[in-house]
Amino acid sequence: MRASTLEGIKSIRDFELEDKRLFLRLDLNVPLDDDGRISDDTRIQAALPTLNYAIEKGAKIILASHFGRPKGHDPKYSLEPVAEALHTLLGKEIILIEEPRGHATRALLSGLKPSQIILLENLRFDSGEEKNDREFAQALASFSDIYINDAFGASHRAHASIVALPELMQKRGIGFLMQKEIEMLDTVRMNPQHPFMTILGGAKVSDKIDVIEAMMDKVDVLVIGGAMAYTFLAAQKLQIGSSLVERDKIGFAAELLQRAQLRKKRILLPIDHRITRAVHDIESLKVTETAAIPDGWMGVDIGPRTVELYAAEIARAKTIFWNGPMGVFETPSFATGTFAVAKAITESEALSVVGGGDSAAAAHASGLAEKFSHISTGGGASLEYLRGDRLPGVEALRRPKQSEQVEP
Ligand code: AMP
Repeated sequence: MRASTLEGIKSIRDFELEDKRLFLRLDLNVPLDDDGRISDDTRIQAALPTLNYAIEKGAKIILASHFGRPKGHDPKYSLEPVAEALHTLLGKEIILIEEPRGHATRALLSGLKPSQIILLENLRFDSGEEKNDREFAQALASFSDIYINDAFGASHRAHASIVALPELMQKRGIGFLMQKEIEMLDTVRMNPQHPFMTILGGAKVSDKIDVIEAMMDKVDVLVIGGAMAYTFLAAQKLQIGSSLVERDKIGFAAELLQRAQLRKKRILLPIDHRITRAVHDIESLKVTETAAIPDGWMGVDIGPRTVELYAAEIARAKTIFWNGPMGVFETPSFATGTFAVAKAITESEALSVVGGGDSAAAAHASGLAEKFSHISTGGGASLEYLRGDRLPGVEALRRPKQSEQVEP
């Protein structure tokens, strides 16, 4: 494998899969709408290349994922809708197993034929999962020959299926999604082509301070939008009306602006805004003439002159990392700035990587998802990785195998 982070880590391609029991850890944690239907199947789609490969190679497939944040066993968090979606997408029967620790799993697996698929019920129904419990991992290892992690979005968590389990397995590696995520983020983190631009938006500065710090050394231009921007404008002593602001981060913002100036890095902030009287008051929407926001008004999106400024800068970039919407994009009237930035990025020639979470949702909502170089499936994981943390799920695959491996 090319990227150094993945040195010494095997790929699913390195294993003979035929007739082998393949434990495939995926991130199938997809959002549901109010009727319990999957509202965005990106993560399921992203898992298909590895899954199809395993089917093609004749593995006996054990799929596993967490789903939401259940407190114990709660049918509301069943993987049933995911099983149905997989059945539709693959045209294959998906056997959902209620109790992974139980004997039923072993019994079922012994009768499983190559290319058949079972799906373990939500791993978090077992308290051992989030505790990185060795016993739970041993139960999972006892019916698996090969372990593959393709769950990038869960790999920043030291949970049993991510860390304790691979530590017990002799044969272990990563799938195609994991490889792409790491290679793309490594390019941004370690080897960006310049000009390198990072675009940050979203609700809070505090969520992204570590990423800002980590990126400051590498970026040529830092572009800021969304509610985050108002804390920076407040640091410049500009009027921000009743916009969302983190008063306790104004000092950080001021210091960062100063540091950037000293180091000849450019930070771009909005020069105009779309503002309303209140976040739900769409009728009152108007554009400011300057970067200042009058009292009684709040910023909900970047303005048209800011879009122009940002788009011109985006057109010059060679590498772009984008995390966080430019406004309250969930409300269509306030999505203009976010979508315009998405359009500018996809029209540029830059390698473009979108961090997961809300940014991925915004990229999809813009209708331009196909045109980005990569949209990460992991929100927390991509930010933690970019700020320089090692991912427990990757490191567990590198460490020597723990001695007490359970004989399958
Ligand atoms: P994050 O998860 O930090 O990327 O934040 C995403 C959230 O920030 C979205 O739900 C947006 O609605 C919200 N957001 C972006 N801009 C604004 C704004 N100007 N005012 C309030 N919320 C915003």
